[in-house]
Formats: sequence, structure tokens, C-alpha cells
Amino acid sequence: MSRVRTRRRHLNLRFVALCLAAVFALAGLGIWLWASRGLPGEDVAVPDYVQQDFLTVNPWSRPGTPLEKIDGVVIHYVGNPNTTAQANRNYFESLSSGEEGTYASSHFIVGLEGEVLQCIPLTEIAYASNIRNADTVAIEVCHPDETGAFSDASYRRTVELTAWLCREFGLDPMEDVIRHYDVTGKICPRYYVDHPEAWESFLADVASAV
Ligand SMILES: [Zn+2]
Repeated sequence: MSRVRTRRRHLNLRFVALCLAAVFALAGLGIWLWASRGLPGEDVAVPDYVQQDFLTVNPWSRPGTPLEKIDGVVIHYVGNPNTTAQANRNYFESLSSGEEGTYASSHFIVGLEGEVLQCIPLTEIAYASNIRNADTVAIEVCHPDETGAFSDASYRRTVELTAWLCREFGLDPMEDVIRHYDVTGKICPRYYVDHPEAWESFLADVASAV
């Protein structure tokens, strides 16, 4: 009688030990899967019209911080009329010396002729959109004059690039495409803050391109 009871107790202990081992194994598997999960911007092939010209990794404009999630696209204007995409890319690169003490960059710069330079890989954050740096892709757009209105070529290209990002990362143009202004109240991109109806039609153009 007592021997049977002892054996049963042993069986119970063995069962508990097996359960604990299973729990630890599952937890370990979970941690391993979490640690080895890819970034959303990994293995993404950019469109042909994008020329990759990445900045040097540096604390001021390309910190190399992983972009863990992509929940939106933030549109900016360069704020420096009639400058080229290349000039703005060189400016971001020049910040790497630290002499200016300025943190700034962008994933993409759309030029006046519709050319696109990519300065930061989609797996890393840019310094463009303040608290939304951690979960958005930034596009800076060149403009011919002080109004900040995009040229026809840069407008069309920005629509195309934004629509591509929406498709690639499953974003809703009407919800997830925002202005820098919508993050901090900064007057950026100027023309599309001064003319909210122009911003609405930009979003509608992106939505129909998606
Ligand atoms: Zn901005």
C-alpha cells in the first residue's frame, strides 16, 4: 500500500519536472524567436529611381539605430529653396564632423527633377521627425522657392515614393502619411501647412497611386 503511494508521488514529481522543462523550453524558444526577428525594412528592394548614397555612420546624422517598426511616412521640405538633392545629402554628411552640433537627416531626399537619393537604409532611424524617428520613414523634398511648393517633377515622385512605401509596409495613406507639422507643429513642409487643401489632395494622390 505505502509502496504504491510512494511510486505515485514519484510519478507526480516526474510529471511536474517534465512540465517545468517544457515551460522553460518554450520560453527559450520564444526569446530566441524574438531576438532573431527581422526588421521590417530588411530585404526590401527600393525602386529603380532611387539612388542609394548612404551617409557615413556617425552620431549626428546616421546613428545606426535599428528602425524596429515602420508605422508611418513623414513628409518634410528642405527649407532651402532651389537646392539639389545632392547638396542636401552633402549637408547631412557634413554634420558628421559634429562642428555644427546639429542632428539631422532623412531616409530619402526627392530632388527638383524628381531624382531620389537614399541617405539612410530602411533598417535604421533617421534624425528628422523628433519622437516619430523611432517608427517612421522620412522623406525630404526639394522646392524651387520660398513658398515651399514642390516642383511638378518632385511632387509626382514624392507621390510615387510614398505610395510605394505604403504598399511595402502596409500603411494607410490617409492615416499613416503625415507632415512634420503633425508631429511637432513645425511649419514643415511649409506649402502643405499653409495650404491644408493642397495636403489633402497630396494624400488623395498617394491613395490613388497605392
Ligand atoms: Zn521637417
